[in-house]
Amino acid sequence: MKTRLVVLGAGFGGLELSSMLSEALGESLDLTLIDRNDSFFFGFSKLDVMFGHQTPEAVCISYRSIVKPGVTFRQEAITAIDPEARRVTTDSGTYNADVLVVALGADYDLDATPGLVEGGNEFYSFAGAERLREILPTFSKGRAIVGVTSAPFKCPPAPSEAALLLHDFLSQRGVREACEISLVMPFGVPIPPSPETSQALLAAFAERDITFVPNRLVRALDPGRHVAILDDESEMPYDLFLGVPKHKVPDVVAASGMTEDGWIPVDPKNLETRFPGVYAIGDVTSVGTPKAGVFAEGAARVVAQSLIAELSAGESPRAYAGAGSCYVEFGAGRVGRVDVDFFSGPSPTGSYTEASVELAAEKGHFGSSRRARWFGL
Ligand SMILES: Cc1cc2nc3c(=O)[nH]c(=O)nc-3n(C[C@H](O)[C@H](O)[C@H](O)COP(=O)(O)OP(=O)(O)OC[C@H]3O[C@@H](n4cnc5c(N)ncnc54)[C@H](O)[C@@H]3O)c2cc1C
Repeated sequence: MKTRLVVLGAGFGGLELSSMLSEALGESLDLTLIDRNDSFFFGFSKLDVMFGHQTPEAVCISYRSIVKPGVTFRQEAITAIDPEARRVTTDSGTYNADVLVVALGADYDLDATPGLVEGGNEFYSFAGAERLREILPTFSKGRAIVGVTSAPFKCPPAPSEAALLLHDFLSQRGVREACEISLVMPFGVPIPPSPETSQALLAAFAERDITFVPNRLVRALDPGRHVAILDDESEMPYDLFLGVPKHKVPDVVAASGMTEDGWIPVDPKNLETRFPGVYAIGDVTSVGTPKAGVFAEGAARVVAQSLIAELSAGESPRAYAGAGSCYVEFGAGRVGRVDVDFFSGPSPTGSYTEASVELAAEKGHFGSSRRARWFGL
């Protein structure tokens, strides 16, 4: 009897895990990969879509392209997870697993920020980015706020990137002088583990006349008065609000009883949950790294290696290092890179490589190498 692996979620974590296991184990693998969507897109594609750099169709990669020995993809919505029994129910059936991996990412709770739905926009969901693609060309004067409403949130550089790309977008349309841009963030600096990256971003904001509002969250919007209300009750007037909504685990995960304080706790060394034979990787966990694709991928590799060791007497993995590189869009076709390490030292560290067109090409390669590896494209 083959070991039955069931992987929930075909995002960064689920795709990397399935690819590594398939490469190592081939047809001896029995892995079912389940996702409700018909296609994958990179988180950073949302910025490309909202600013009109790419069409929504161009950034979506169909799951039909997954052809991997030992892997069966099912497009189904997961409706229940029983971690004790390792049983998963979907809108089409039931799956019993010997090993279960939860890689369902983070969802958004738009209603947690009063006024956001009625009076603002969010750019973190694909639908939100698509809507903004229509709205942004109509904004030609007034005050724009890029605002974070809650922590933790995915890809900590993304709000800074959105502010810088908005500057470019308005400049290219010749309306930048008539607009103000502010960025509200819950940290003292844009990227706390990397002072160098933060310095570079703060310098870029200053050069572009973008106001950085540190240590604050946007608590609510008052659409009638067009003001954003911050967590110290101060108010900022706005004409365009681009928000990062509150994050939460998908409802099916919350209902499974696996979470504590909102996220799935895991052993940071090996990503095991407290349920035998059940792992969790990526944004759905509280492992202690930022919610970003590179970290989901790193966690997937550790789980894959330990499963390969178990199933084919391979080498056991080293403990999860919590390290990864994030690309940061600075606008004007330039991209910086921050290499962060969360678990090696007593506190997180991050080194910065200055923004350049060469790094923009490297980011392009990051995307195309995943397309090739995960989808054979
Ligand atoms: C604007 C923006 C920019 C970003 N830029 C970057 C970047 O430059 N670099 C980087 O590393 N990260 C970036 N990210 C973050 C990155 O996209 C996520 O952290 C990453 O996708 C997390 O991977 P994951 O595998 O944990 O979850 P996900 O990739 O979110 O995958 C989870 C999957 O689970 C599926 N799912 C959820 N619920 C169900 C259900 N009930 N039934 C079936 N399927 C379900 C979803 O459809 C999804 O495909 C960015 C994010 C945003 C929003």
